[in-house]
Parts: sequence; structure tokens; C-alpha cells
Amino acid sequence: MIRKTRLYTPGPTPLLPAAQFAMAAADIHHRTPEFRVLFQKVLAQLKVFVGTRNDVLLLSSSGTGAMEAAVTNLTSPGDRVLVLTAGKFGERWTGLVRAFGCVPDVVSAPYGQTFDPAQIRAALKPEHRALFVQATETSTAVRHDIESIAKLRDEVAPETLLVVDGITGLGTTDFDVDGWGIDVLIGGSQKAVMIAPGLAYLSVSERAWAAMETAKNPRYYFDLRKERKNAVKGESAYTPAVALVAALGAALDYIAGQAAGDLEKGRIALVDNAEVNAAATRAGLVALGFTLFAPTAPAAAATAVAVPEGMDSSAVVKALKARFALVTANGQGEMQGKIFRVAHLGFFDYLDTIALLGAMEHIAKDTLGLPVVYGQAVEAAQRVYAEATKP
Ligand SMILES: *Cc1c(COP(=O)(O)O)cnc(C)c1O
Repeated sequence: MIRKTRLYTPGPTPLLPAAQFAMAAADIHHRTPEFRVLFQKVLAQLKVFVGTRNDVLLLSSSGTGAMEAAVTNLTSPGDRVLVLTAGKFGERWTGLVRAFGCVPDVVSAPYGQTFDPAQIRAALKPEHRALFVQATETSTAVRHDIESIAKLRDEVAPETLLVVDGITGLGTTDFDVDGWGIDVLIGGSQKAVMIAPGLAYLSVSERAWAAMETAKNPRYYFDLRKERKNAVKGESAYTPAVALVAALGAALDYIAGQAAGDLEKGRIALVDNAEVNAAATRAGLVALGFTLFAPTAPAAAATAVAVPEGMDSSAVVKALKARFALVTANGQGEMQGKIFRVAHLGFFDYLDTIALLGAMEHIAKDTLGLPVVYGQAVEAAQRVYAEATKP
């Protein structure tokens, strides 16, 4: 039978066709009026998508490039910083700050859980130059409570810069960037904005700009002050990924189009879409006998599921690919074989969720030998959808 390849990974995510066309047509030079118009339009759209009055910059790199930029532009060797980590991407913050000579204090939560606020309160010190955290920890599909963390920072260490990796959080969870005082919030192109990998974007607060004047870590390609100067003119410091910029413009137009051209409402609709698909997926997989890996603070970006004791999640990932050309993500690192992850961020709709759960019924029955009644996962998801979309 025909099997269409379907991506259900939390980055890269399925590509928006309109963005692919824009990308293919983008044979423009980056030092021309045409590009400046495009670049300024996309930067203005990104401010609305991120939901901030702060500057938003666009970098030609994967998301980790913007994470590195946050570290090098804001810190000096020897700075004490606080890292909150609950998975592989939290561990990336620890590795990054160490690579640039910072001295991290670390608050960690077990894989599959979020932080204990009392531990953050006890660890956070006014001398911390910055606090680094994920909005959603994609490796475990956990959502962290950034609003509460920002409030704690305001109470305990108001001078500490709050740097949030929102690479899968943007477009799947709500942020009040200016109200909460998020100093840097980072996104990536291959996640909720439905385009190919290769762009990172980040909002930068006035406090963060001021902090760059005293930060002594080396930076060259990712010198944010240089990018800001060029962005004012509608340019990037170096050759930007022009085709991806065009794709991003088309994707943000599409997101706005979901709410009659209002990008802010479109972003809210995109978050709701991820929330409903995530809730439907959780209900469907629980109905099949799987255990949620992050039951207390599940992200809408992705769902992580533990396979029953004694079974291997790699078998599920492999069988979904072999039988249905359906690509999911295994657990990372020591979680490999124990969990698998499916995404809801970006260009996923309700029928994608139904397709996944229908396929999972076959896999649960034939690959894992679970007692499946056809329709049981799909039905649970349909109930969630019906309730969520009730007029
Ligand atoms: C995908 C992702 C990243 C960035 O990874 P890149 O491969 O550099 O784009 C960082 N943090 C989180 C939470 C992610 O999901």
C-alpha cells in the first residue's frame, strides 16, 4: 500500500507548503531594497509572534546558535549563573555556560518532571548574572512554569537576567515577555513556525542590551549589538539565510491568516491547536495502555510516552516507520528505548492526531501484543476534540 511520509518529530516539523514555495522563489540578493523590505517585514511580524516590544533579532543558525549568543553576549568568564535543568536541553545550558567560563549553580528535576519552586528559591542568589531555563524541555515533553520562575527572580534576585529557551515553547505555550520581564526568549525555525531548520530568533530586553556593555566573553559571528545595528537598516551583519527568511514571512502570514490576518490572534490559535492535539494524544495513548512520561506538567509541544514495563520504545518507533512511514522520536540519551515522543507544534492538525492514534492501535496490538479494541484510542481523542471545540 502507499505510505505517505509523515513527520511527528518535535523538530524538524512538517513544512508549510506556502513556505516551501516562498523559499523556492527567493532568488534575491541580501543587500537590495527588495530584501530589506522582506527582512523588516519579517522582524516586525516576529515581534508580534513573540509578543513583545523588545527588539527581536534573526540569526542564520540553528536554535543552539542563539543559545550560545545569549551566553556570550551577556556573561563574562567567572560569572556565577543559575541553570535549571530537567533534561537534555537543560544540560545543554550547563555545557554552554561552562564552555564560556561561567560557574553554574544547577537546580535539576528528574526526567519527566518540572522544578520544585522551593529549590529554585533556595538556589537563586542576587550575584547570579543570569538564570537559564527551557520553557518546554523537549527531551521529556515537560512544560516549565516560566511565569512563576520570573516572579521568583523578581523577588529574590531582581538584577538577574532571565534567559528562556523557548525553541519549542514559542507557538505552544503563552508568554508575557514584557510583563514577566523575560530578558532573552529564543525560538527556532524548525519548530512551531513550520519551516526548515537554519534560523534562530530571539527577543532582547533593554536590560539585556545594557548588560552586553559589560559582558566580556568573546563573540564575533553572534555579536548581537552588530546584528541590532544592521537590523535597523533592514539588513543582517553577514549573508543571511535569505530563502529561509522568505519562508518565515510566508509562514507568519499563514499563522495570521488563521485569524483573519491578525497575527497575535493567529499565534493564540496556534497555541490552542497544539494544546488540543496534545490533550487528545494523551487521552488516546492512555486509553491504549501507555503511561505518560510527564503527567504532572505536560507540554503542548510534544507528548512523551513510556512503553509498558519490559518493552522497548525503539520497537514502536521502528514499526511506525516501517508500516506507516510515520516518523516519531525515540527517547534521547538514557531515555532511549524507554519512551517515544510525538509532536504537536506547528503545522499539525487534528486529523494528523487521529492518523497517529489509528496507526498506534495497530502497533500496540501487533508489535507490543497489547489487548487492543480498534477505535479505542481514536475514540478517546475524539471525545477530547468534541469537548474542546463545543460551540
Ligand atoms: C530543538 C531544540 C533546541 C535547538 O536545537 P538545534 O538543533 O540547535 O536547533 C534547543 N532547545 C530545545 C528545547 C529544543 O527543542
